[in-house]
Amino acid sequence: MDSSKGLRADILIIGAGQAGLAAANALRMAGLSFLMVDAGQAIGDSWRNRYDTLTLFTPRRISSLPGIPLIGDPDGYATKDEFSDYLERYAASNGYPIIRSTKVVRLEKVDELFLAYLEGGGRLISQAVIVATGAFSTPRTPEISYSLPSDIQQMHVADFRNAGSITSGPVLVVGDGASGRDVAMELAASHRALLARGRQRKLLPENILGRNIWWWLERLGLLRVSAYGLIGRRMRKADPFPTRGNDDASLIRSGVSLKSRLIALDGRRAKFEDGSSEDIGSIIWATGYAQDFRWIDIEGAVGSRYEAVHREGISPVAGLYYVGRPWQRNRASGLIAGVADDAAFVVEHLRRLRARRT
Ligand SMILES: Cc1cc2nc3c(=O)[nH]c(=O)nc-3n(C[C@H](O)[C@H](O)[C@H](O)COP(=O)(O)OP(=O)(O)OC[C@H]3O[C@@H](n4cnc5c(N)ncnc54)[C@H](O)[C@@H]3O)c2cc1C
Repeated sequence: MDSSKGLRADILIIGAGQAGLAAANALRMAGLSFLMVDAGQAIGDSWRNRYDTLTLFTPRRISSLPGIPLIGDPDGYATKDEFSDYLERYAASNGYPIIRSTKVVRLEKVDELFLAYLEGGGRLISQAVIVATGAFSTPRTPEISYSLPSDIQQMHVADFRNAGSITSGPVLVVGDGASGRDVAMELAASHRALLARGRQRKLLPENILGRNIWWWLERLGLLRVSAYGLIGRRMRKADPFPTRGNDDASLIRSGVSLKSRLIALDGRRAKFEDGSSEDIGSIIWATGYAQDFRWIDIEGAVGSRYEAVHREGISPVAGLYYVGRPWQRNRASGLIAGVADDAAFVVEHLRRLRARRT
């Protein structure tokens, strides 16, 4: 194969969200040159395109990237648009080289070079690649979603913007993670809203002894406990998240009807594990996201469930790295709070690899 044609870069970062920007910062600190490519039109679009009422669940104090603080009350929470604009400003202030509105549709490696094929034609050639494409771009819906009659509106929470786009009548939100809870609460103001819950969620209070829960998690070192140790593995399994006015009691007060697990759909009739059933007009699936790295066409890079194969962000494929994978190294990895450390970690590995080669 001819690997000589295409725009060349030393290091290519795919994705210019917070993880990609953290990688750019780490590469620049290490004196390494790079190019970024992002599918979105504007930096921060992955945040901007989330539901209208979203505010971050992490306080501003731990929601910024190195060198530029997020302006505002450090104990308060940024709106999603505020944070999107922050990312846009971060990229502009640092003058990072970013090719926008350009999706990488295939990544190959030929000898020592990576070839990133672009949607619409063309390719980028680099000696190393950092993949920072996010963990929330492939919505997952359960099998039963396919059996819904076409006159019942359904969407994944990733596509939900506001209550105005939901048909009148009872709306069932399936999945009681943070997004499912937020959306059910918002919908209860205008619709009969039901929330189907799966396994019992471990919810943490927003404040303990007058201090924000994130202060405690940082102080106790729990955000940085290794993903590979016993405590890390247990935390990951339990997957607790802090509530902010969306605990069960608050949901009930807002008018949300809490249901057990959804087990079947029979036309408009939704049936729940506790034997109850309800007629519904629409469904929002807040049922999580899958990994789909099929576009990385390199032997050994992707697992049987299309997941990225890596340890602490380092792929077994020499020169291939990740930033922003949930639990990449610890709990903070999938949060704004953790991407800078993870980026510094993989960039140090990359720097040593290059030093050995030259
Ligand atoms: C609803 C919700 C709320 C959250 N709230 C918080 C919070 O309060 N605090 C917190 O710390 N974390 C939060 N997170 C988790 C995490 O911080 C976000 O998911 C964040 O967007 C992850 O940043 P990222 O850079 O890894 O990925 P993304 O923000 O998804 O950015 C990935 C970028 O890669 C680009 N891209 C993807 N594929 C390609 C491709 N093939 N070619 C080119 N470009 C590509 C996309 O256009 C995008 O710009 C939240 C997540 C969700 C879903």
